[in-house]
Amino acid sequence: MRLYSTNNENLIVDLSEAVLKALPPDNGLYMPVKLTPNEELIQNLKHLSFEEISYAVAKSIIGDAIQEKDLKTIVRETVNFPAPVVPIHDDIYSLELYHGPTLAFKDFGARFMSRVMKYYKKSEKDLYILVATSGDTGGAVANGFLNVNGIHVVILFPKGKVSPLQQKQLTTLGSNITAIEVDGNFDDCQAIVKKAFLDDDLNAKYFLSSANSINISRLIPQSFYYFNAVAQLQTDEEVVFVVPSGNFGNLTAGIIAQLMGLKVRHFVAATNVNDVVPEYIRTGEYKPKTSKASLSNAMDVGNPSNFPRLKKLLGSTWNNVKKKLKAYSFDDEQTQQAMLKVYEDHQYILDPHGAVGYLAAVQYKKEEKFNGPIIFLETAHPSKFKETVEETLGIDIDVPERLSKLEQLQEKYYTLTTEYTDFKNWFTAFVDNK
Ligand SMILES: *Cc1c(COP(=O)(O)O)cnc(C)c1O
Repeated sequence: MRLYSTNNENLIVDLSEAVLKALPPDNGLYMPVKLTPNEELIQNLKHLSFEEISYAVAKSIIGDAIQEKDLKTIVRETVNFPAPVVPIHDDIYSLELYHGPTLAFKDFGARFMSRVMKYYKKSEKDLYILVATSGDTGGAVANGFLNVNGIHVVILFPKGKVSPLQQKQLTTLGSNITAIEVDGNFDDCQAIVKKAFLDDDLNAKYFLSSANSINISRLIPQSFYYFNAVAQLQTDEEVVFVVPSGNFGNLTAGIIAQLMGLKVRHFVAATNVNDVVPEYIRTGEYKPKTSKASLSNAMDVGNPSNFPRLKKLLGSTWNNVKKKLKAYSFDDEQTQQAMLKVYEDHQYILDPHGAVGYLAAVQYKKEEKFNGPIIFLETAHPSKFKETVEETLGIDIDVPERLSKLEQLQEKYYTLTTEYTDFKNWFTAFVDNK
């Protein structure tokens, strides 16, 4: 498998370098040089299990870059929990991606990435993984890497902007996982991580990598469940996928699935008030903004990091992009109304992110007068946003034990300002004191 940088198509690397370095030196993003349709997979789709589908997709993308036997193990351990498609009403379906260890779709990416990194890590030097989180990334990554020898994870989260349980998923693990509270927003956390990767000084001394969705190994497994969702519907019709989006990694993985032959009529990006991409589709102008806090906090992103990838895959120009991608945004009030309505009318509990997706599904259906299957991605378990869900629906909801047991655990984290030098000093002292 070969990959290029979105800033320079002549900068070509292999998968091991793209995974371990995460970012090209020219500050672009790595992308597969070639994505080809897998006709055999498309034809047999209806008869294959999630694991079989996932292996076929991984093999198509990765080729011989990982030995067959190892790739099989990596895939099996990645998709060891289900991703069921659940009908809600009128050919609108919820693709529940939250049955993994941290109850968010990011478990797929994190589990795959941690295993691929371990496969490629040959150097004696310890590897430091820096990751910025707006909510779920941190927990999934921490869980994916917990106790992996020779790899340390440093997670930066914005102060007061992740839910209490999300925070506990980052701060209670200990071992090779270290959490840092940044007195700022998610974009500040992301900016620190980006600066660290471009800091020659730091990179000369330490072996750094990233686990954000800028790492291609997180995107690859996210294309598996799009195929598996269509397989579950047992349909030959073109489907529509609605993707609640923040950094647009999940949506990019969907486009990758489409380029590999999956029949999709449209992808629909669903955002909260952080609507940079819907505004781009509407006006042709891409204007990053400071992110605003919302109930669907994992999507509070003002400058989506995967946008350059998405644009490239969709044909680069505004005209090409808007033909293939629809995009809608909704505020918190609409989100809560949707949660309540779907619960009252269909007894289905949405989390705030899934609710934004549901709203976009309904709007697409109406605007496009489309009567085929629409699948929205339900990206987190409702209990991860217990306070919001209970207040909105006026009921008590159950919290799965793997989440509720965190409540008793002691938190440990460092606190830093948004200044890059503050982080750099902390990091240097932290590593050198080990
Ligand atoms: C991360 C996340 C999203 C956004 O996914 P992107 O790939 O960043 O667009 C949506 N919902 C939940 C629950 C998430 O954790």
